[in-house]
Amino acid sequence: MAEFSIIDTYFNRKNVNSVDLGVGDDSALLTPPPQQQLVICADTSVAGRHFPFDTDPHAIGWKSVAVNLSDIAAMGAKPHSILLALSLPQIDHDWLKGFSQGLYDCCDQFGVSLIGGDTTQSPHLTITITALGWIETGQAITRSGAQIGDLICVSGTVGDAAYGLKHRGHPLQQRLDYPTPRCELGEQLKGLASSMIDISDGLAQDLGHILTASNVGATIELDKLPLSETVNKLSEQEKFQSALAGGDDYELCFSISPENYQKIKQQCVNTSITIIGQITQNLGLNLLKNGVNYSIQSNGYQHFA
Ligand code: ADP
Ligand code: MG
Repeated sequence: MAEFSIIDTYFNRKNVNSVDLGVGDDSALLTPPPQQQLVICADTSVAGRHFPFDTDPHAIGWKSVAVNLSDIAAMGAKPHSILLALSLPQIDHDWLKGFSQGLYDCCDQFGVSLIGGDTTQSPHLTITITALGWIETGQAITRSGAQIGDLICVSGTVGDAAYGLKHRGHPLQQRLDYPTPRCELGEQLKGLASSMIDISDGLAQDLGHILTASNVGATIELDKLPLSETVNKLSEQEKFQSALAGGDDYELCFSISPENYQKIKQQCVNTSITIIGQITQNLGLNLLKNGVNYSIQSNGYQHFA
């Protein structure tokens, strides 16, 4: 019984968009818009591994949704709904209240409905969210389309979440706890960007996935990396380490032709975008500082380190 009262109390709010059948039956029902493909992804967060045990439950709720919407945005798609698989060690109403509020705050901001899930007991607090979105058939922006000569761009600033993780209590902890999925920009890049990825494990590693999938290389000019004032004040090694290998930024990194860059620059007014380099024929990632090669210690977050 407890399971059903948790669902009813915390996870059964009104849907905010077109859902034929949501929480309450064996499955949810959606009608796909004509000529669109379903875009679907999942992401798991484990307490003590992906966030400290004492993290504000509201932030855990927000971020669990945000990281999934970021994956949907990275395909150029529009997020529609989520499913929540929640494993809890015990029923803690204060925690559930904060968590569900954070989850719905993120859903509401991006017009997404919670349409189902599963609730179980487990020794480890584990949150798995599956996100669904739609995109016009054939329009998804994958990792494999980067072309030699394309510009490489990133949204927002990079390295803030890594700083927030090291300096708890600093205002940049907000960037770690409340990432902003770049949903609007992602959709605007449809038909313009040649490849895209969201930065979850560090810019160098994630851009590396584009390069491998596209069978190209890249040159990045470190002086062009978009950094917040705080990160910019760090020592050179720390600064570039945070920006290139710090995870959890949830900014978008994409390749785009110079002509299409002019178009997105005009359309996109709410999110900053910065050119940081170029796609090259030479394979691998070439970091340049004042025209000289530069290397960093680590490439990014390792899931099985
Ligand atoms: P079943 O036993 O048929 O799998 P459940 O009893 O697990 O169904 O779930 C009942 C309903 O509540 C389903 O519609 C399911 O999608 C939904 N649900 C269960 N847990 C959650 C949750 N944490 N968040 C949202 N919906 C949930
Ligand atoms: Mg079930």
